[in-house]
Amino acid sequence: MAEKRRRLELGFLPTPLQEAPRLARALGGPCLLVKRDDQTGLATGGNKARKLEYLLADAMDQKATAVVTVGDLQSNHCRMTAAACRKLGMEPYLLLNGTRPAVLEGNLLLDVIFGATLHFAPLDDAAAVDRELAGLSARAAADGHRPYVIPMGGSNSLGALGYVDALRELLGQSAPRVDHVFVASGSGGTQAGLIAGTMEAARPPLIHGVSVSRTRDTLGPRVSQLAAETAVLLGLAPPPADHVLVHDGYIGPGYAMMTEACRDAIRLVARTEGILLDPVYTGKAMAGLIDLIRGGRFNRDETVVFWHTGGVPALQVYREWFADA
Ligand SMILES: *Cc1c(COP(=O)(O)O)cnc(C)c1O
Repeated sequence: MAEKRRRLELGFLPTPLQEAPRLARALGGPCLLVKRDDQTGLATGGNKARKLEYLLADAMDQKATAVVTVGDLQSNHCRMTAAACRKLGMEPYLLLNGTRPAVLEGNLLLDVIFGATLHFAPLDDAAAVDRELAGLSARAAADGHRPYVIPMGGSNSLGALGYVDALRELLGQSAPRVDHVFVASGSGGTQAGLIAGTMEAARPPLIHGVSVSRTRDTLGPRVSQLAAETAVLLGLAPPPADHVLVHDGYIGPGYAMMTEACRDAIRLVARTEGILLDPVYTGKAMAGLIDLIRGGRFNRDETVVFWHTGGVPALQVYREWFADA
């Protein structure tokens, strides 16, 4: 049965919904709008703010004094969790995939500034993640804390609730209608929340996830499962399988590995709209949207919302890709 979950106010919400007429003209396609979740706050911003509003409410309800979470070296989720913890008076413990780099930059530098406890370990599979998370939780407990563990990307059904609200927020902002929403999809919680949200909307848009790491065969079922779990929390019907659209042709060599199309998308959006995208998520999602527009996938009279999920602090790490101006 549906049960109201508590939600903290961590983000600057609602985020703006902006028209992108110069980008739309450059592409010669549908009407384009950008949902600015890169402006949610929490040490710049990003999609994790909305998830953390639910996750950290739960942590506080459970009387947690520390939060343990996990991500890549340049994890936006870890940076935003560290910021939110400090705002709430909790202690952040971050498990980061890899070894400690000689140079601290991007999100990792921000994690250090927030004074998060960092634990570096190679996270080659789910078993390694579970093992290292358990170890870091034990360390937090040994430090005298009551730890609350948040999974990679904050992507469980509780976190995804933030994107059910976000879709409602968007549809309240956009007259007369939105036909398509494009969003970068990594651990899948953002896309899953948006898809669950379509189940309560009168005229739901199609939610397109552009994968940044997994193939459609892996990410699709994961998003479906999470969307169903999220819908159940709200007493909504589980979304049908054809609501889950995953585009997996824009990943390039792998997660967090730059592609030329991503670099070109970042430049184009910067130079037409004055908006910065990021190299790991939104640049690839925009590369996908650009490719589909150029391929004639949309009618001129359709409206497409590009969901800007943040990630800009990682841009500096990819400086050599922009060296030739
Ligand atoms: C985490 C993240 C995403 C992907 O969200 P998921 O819910 O993990 O799919 C997209 N963009 C940015 C900038 C992110 O940090």
